Amino acid sequence: MAALTPTWAVEAIYRLTPASLKRQGIQVILTDLDNTLIAWNNPDGTPELRAWLAEMKAADITVMVVSNNNRERIARALARLDLPFEPRALKPLPVGINRAVRHLGVAKTACVMVGDQLLTDVWAGNAAGVRTILVRPLVASDQWNTRINRFFERLLFKMMSPVHYLEELNDKH
Ligand SMILES: [Mg+2]
Repeated sequence: MAALTPTWAVEAIYRLTPASLKRQGIQVILTDLDNTLIAWNNPDGTPELRAWLAEMKAADITVMVVSNNNRERIARALARLDLPFEPRALKPLPVGINRAVRHLGVAKTACVMVGDQLLTDVWAGNAAGVRTILVRPLVASDQWNTRINRFFERLLFKMMSPVHYLEELNDKH
């Protein structure tokens, strides 16, 4: 169960603030693409996302997409957002995350993996030895494989001992 338990959970990636991340020594956000950063029905991203990305940039926090999709698909999805990315990450294996960390030349302790799926993003992040943040999916997916995963993820999440919410954690510090 520990392999699938996120370090923290937040409602959405936009809720992460430079202050809360820096307090945890985090300088790099590795993020899933679909349903974490952008919704399939809004590939340009929301004004909220753009504002958040600008805020991270101003605070010198790197945001890099780590996705199982191929290069063409990610490049198309990120055309308007200008973000670095690591394609074909093979999540839940740690391969892509390890590659991203190596390319960035940073310590794993300074990285966090953010995603909406326990069975891919959180598992991969934990396997790579970085801290992990689970977010709620931006929109419900209609893909059958994602729907099946979600069913198990809901069960798993219920079985997990208290997951820490990043906001709560900040209050304690
Ligand atoms: Mg996703």
